[in-house]
Amino acid sequence: MSTGRDLRHLQNPSAIEDAFSKLVSGGKIGYKTVIEKKKIPSRCTNCGRGGEYDQKFCSQCGGEMKVPLVTCPKCEKQIGDTEKFCTECGTKFS
Ligand SMILES: [Zn+2]
Ligand SMILES: [Zn+2]
Repeated sequence: MSTGRDLRHLQNPSAIEDAFSKLVSGGKIGYKTVIEKKKIPSRCTNCGRGGEYDQKFCSQCGGEMKVPLVTCPKCEKQIGDTEKFCTECGTKFS
């Protein structure tokens, strides 16, 4: 019987949390994934150059910077257009 032995190295609560947050990173739930959730950077609508999250105009061409978001057709949550799946309901974007 060695079922308990496998978890012995995870007895430290923070170690369990680390392991769990690794498992769910990219998933919908998690402890640290919420904290590490990053803001979506804006992108130039003219030349497509990426910028900072709160940047309003492109430093290269003066074009307007906008955060590239797509609206989920199912739940209407707005998420970054680089995502492949809705982070709210799991709908796949084409
Ligand atoms: Zn630009
Ligand atoms: Zn959705």
